[in-house]
Amino acid sequence: MSYFALPVLLAGWIAGLGVNYLADVLPRTRRFSRPVCRRCNQPWSSRAYLLMQRHTCGAARSLRTWIVQAVFLAAALALWLMPPKGLGFGLGLLLLTYLGVVFVIDLEERLILHPVSLAGVVLGGGIGLYLHGLRATLLGGLAGFGIMFFFYLLGVAFTRLRARRMRAAGLEPDDEEALGFGDVALSTVLGLTLGWPLIWFGLLLGILAGGAVSLLIVIILLVVRRYRRNALMVFIPYGPYFVLSAILLLYLPNWIIQAVPK
Ligand SMILES: [Zn+2]
Repeated sequence: MSYFALPVLLAGWIAGLGVNYLADVLPRTRRFSRPVCRRCNQPWSSRAYLLMQRHTCGAARSLRTWIVQAVFLAAALALWLMPPKGLGFGLGLLLLTYLGVVFVIDLEERLILHPVSLAGVVLGGGIGLYLHGLRATLLGGLAGFGIMFFFYLLGVAFTRLRARRMRAAGLEPDDEEALGFGDVALSTVLGLTLGWPLIWFGLLLGILAGGAVSLLIVIILLVVRRYRRNALMVFIPYGPYFVLSAILLLYLPNWIIQAVPK
């Protein structure tokens, strides 16, 4: 390992700080605000926050903070050693930072925020144009929107049907949506980024992975006899699976190609 790796690791660390900061403040305030301690709700001083120190109340930073920092250090190193084709190190790390923000917020809050999606349209649109031109980018965005919007409408119809049945059975219907509109926005962003026709494969991969994991959970619940009829209605958060499949499609082919000796 040469000294050239130091700026690379620094870039990875800063990207991780960015993901942690945005995941800390955006779900709470929807803007670039001062982060607050999750135990006592008092603001962090910039210095203590940036240096990962304990809060004045004694609370340490979350486990997620450290996982994100470690993942981005490793990712920066991997991107530098094997820069993804077309994207290169800089754009590759920028896109990964964006996807990291979406992934962490969706996992923690089950939310895909509209301002984050709007920023994604700009970033994903720009990267799409750069990678595969206007036509493939627009078609990809349109397909990403159209395919998930269809599933969104199906989900709405299904939720209504279920609510009617529950009312008929004398139960209070819950209004959990099968699929949030945030998933439609995310799939549009990924459509712009991956372009046509790759978005097809990306969505399919995400849906299959989400379905497979949900099925596994139902099987485990059955085996430990904790399964109830309602468990079948588990809300599948597709966002994280879409993000993972997009990362796989954008970054992995290059790693596989480079790993194969010529
Ligand atoms: Zn505190």
